[in-house]
Amino acid sequence: MAEKDFEITFRGVRGSIPTPITPEKMKEKMLAVVERIEPSDIQNEDSRNAFVNSLPVEVGGIIGGNSSCVQASVAGKNFVFDCGSGLRELGLHWMGQEFGKGGGEAHIFVSHTHYDHILGIPFFVPFYIKGNRFKFYGGHDDLEDRLAGHQRPEFFPVPFSIFPSEISFTDLNEVSDLTIGDTKISWKKNYHPGGSYAFRIDYNGKSFIYATDSEYKNIGPQALQSVIDFFKDADLVVFDAQYTFMEGIEFKEDWGHSSAFIGIDIALEANVRQLALYHHEPTYSDFKIMDVFQLAEKYLKKVGKGSNLEVFVACEGKTVDLNAS
Ligand SMILES: [Zn+2]
Ligand SMILES: [Zn+2]
Repeated sequence: MAEKDFEITFRGVRGSIPTPITPEKMKEKMLAVVERIEPSDIQNEDSRNAFVNSLPVEVGGIIGGNSSCVQASVAGKNFVFDCGSGLRELGLHWMGQEFGKGGGEAHIFVSHTHYDHILGIPFFVPFYIKGNRFKFYGGHDDLEDRLAGHQRPEFFPVPFSIFPSEISFTDLNEVSDLTIGDTKISWKKNYHPGGSYAFRIDYNGKSFIYATDSEYKNIGPQALQSVIDFFKDADLVVFDAQYTFMEGIEFKEDWGHSSAFIGIDIALEANVRQLALYHHEPTYSDFKIMDVFQLAEKYLKKVGKGSNLEVFVACEGKTVDLNAS
């Protein structure tokens, strides 16, 4: 149990729409692999394995095409943040565990109901297993109606109400604080078309924040104070870094998203330990995402002298053990 005391796993990291890799992008990766091979890399099975394992994710792997979904295991309880297409993958994974036998329970937090955050729901197999229990939480008071509407017969053959598992809803407007087991949950409304909510979980002195689909329009410590307070001393913040900084301020103002540079500024002010760049722009290749990341790292070196903030790119399948950090 101890090793799963507070563990975060990225199941879907792409923003706006699921983005499978294209044949052209696959070929680009293959060429980048071939360019790196030295004769010594292909001498035997061990050297081939070592070579493949040494490749950076943008060359030898994928950052991930599934849309928003992050899993958290906290003190033996299951939490899910958003239900994009990554939720489908999580469901398949869970089917091999108690959810496959109708004995699973999970708490699902929905930031908002834009398609990229809910489209995994009809494909989440554990919903179809009697005995499983799910509790939805959200700041939109008509969340249940919205999810039911998404599965009206015009859009999907199986209605939301037919799921045989036990499903309940908590409207966060009707509760002042929320504790699940020994875990405290707090939330904050983001600036985003239609509204979106960031969530914070605190457990045993460690904290995790899920803050996607958020634009920070007025940058500067004064305007950002409420965000800085919400992020204060967090061990891991999952942050909407969909755009490059210039795109965010020049061309896509009011589209409701942010950039790595703004994430770093806020994280430094708030004394955050790890910042995960998340909700990747679907038109960006993995190479472009890593280029933006390298710029972000340079920026951090400049502005973050003396801080121990770590920044990384959220990749599908990556797990962060908050107790190890
Ligand atoms: Zn989104
Ligand atoms: Zn959105």
